[in-house]
Amino acid sequence: MALTTLEPMAENNGLPAVLSIAGLDPSGGAGLLADLRVFAWMGMYGLGVITASTSQNTKEVKEIQPLSPRLVRSQLDILLDDVSPQAMKTGMLATAAIVEAVARAFANGKPGPLVVDPVIRSTGGFDLGGREVAEAIKKHLLPAADMVTPNLDEAEALTGIRVRTAADAERAARALTELGAASACITGGHFSGAPDEIAIIDGRLEIFRGARQGGDEQFHGSGCFFSAALACLLARGKRPAEAVSGAKALVQEAMSGAIKAGSGNRIPWLRSQLEPGKSKH
Ligand code: PLP
Repeated sequence: MALTTLEPMAENNGLPAVLSIAGLDPSGGAGLLADLRVFAWMGMYGLGVITASTSQNTKEVKEIQPLSPRLVRSQLDILLDDVSPQAMKTGMLATAAIVEAVARAFANGKPGPLVVDPVIRSTGGFDLGGREVAEAIKKHLLPAADMVTPNLDEAEALTGIRVRTAADAERAARALTELGAASACITGGHFSGAPDEIAIIDGRLEIFRGARQGGDEQFHGSGCFFSAALACLLARGKRPAEAVSGAKALVQEAMSGAIKAGSGNRIPWLRSQLEPGKSKH
């Protein structure tokens, strides 16, 4: 990739940094490793605060070991004391206490926009935090979120609204903004019909139409990919609606180029590195 095509950034001596606060999936399909790969694809310098280790492969999650909330907070504090990311995202936070610790770190301001991907369960149904984490996100983290990106189940866990149709998703997205998120985007990959993203941005309904990739195939880490790409585009100064539409185009491209790292679900993969200065996204 031609690094010279990067647009100059005002801060960090031109270093375009994005931070992921997420769990470690050793298979690299989801979580921190996947986020850092997306950041690199998009020409960003990746920063990572780890919240939990998991034992998993591309087929199943076996076990989770969360870090102490104190250590998560200490990683954040020392990092942000020194480096100023242009955007941040949260992924799997694993426990309510970690959610609170992360939210408290941003109580007096954030270095850049925050995307909250409210991970509570794996695609295969493994509990990655569950109801307790959903409640904590709702209470503590949504007020700090510039954009929250739940799938249908996560939207239901956060709002209590059963989301099956676009009208349900609009209600749920609005409820999320009433709970404190500046904008909310319900990812539509699990809709039985078209995989449209339904968002409330600056109080307005926005629908991002999509075409299904891979039939009914489930991908490992598509939610992580979407929120990571969104954070990068916000870091590059895109407006929220442009960032959602760019991230959606990228995740669709990555799903159509998905790879098999193991024998389980395929992993979204971009066949070519992006040149952000020239990219259409
Ligand atoms: N492991 C970690 C660390 C994650 O962050 C996630 C999702 O965000 C998963 C596993 C589950 O990924 P998926 O549901 O896409 O298989």
